[in-house]
Amino acid sequence: MNQAINIIFDGPPRPESGRFVEVETDEGKGLNVGEWIDKGDGLWALRIAPDLPPFHLPAQAELENELVRQNRKWGEQNHHPERWMNILMEEVGEASQAVLKNWPLNYREEMVHVAAVAIQAIKSFDRDPNPSLRTTENSPEPTGGE
Ligand SMILES: [Mg+2]
Repeated sequence: MNQAINIIFDGPPRPESGRFVEVETDEGKGLNVGEWIDKGDGLWALRIAPDLPPFHLPAQAELENELVRQNRKWGEQNHHPERWMNILMEEVGEASQAVLKNWPLNYREEMVHVAAVAIQAIKSFDRDPNPSLRTTENSPEPTGGE
């Protein structure tokens, strides 16, 4: 799981606690996180099995979140295309490692990093299509994920 989930009740915690409403993302999208089981004693359990496939936001939402995260961390980034290619290839390498060594744990996350870095490079190009060749010592560390 790489995102928060919200378990929604219709009231605050107290002795006569609120009733369960649903499980949703921060964006309010409902999530199916498990299976309701009648325990037979008047109680029900929402069973969240560890082998359920991971749930995640749609790709575009993940990309937008990653762009916001990068902008908060690095601010506006303006690099020469050579520098952008170095950063992009680093992210592609991380995605490749996920395919070869950590499948499927980090693959999707790293591909979001690849997409975000590509978008940042395009925005940088659009701001300045003829940048001076900046050296890496004047550039911040790679922009992508960790
Ligand atoms: Mg990464």
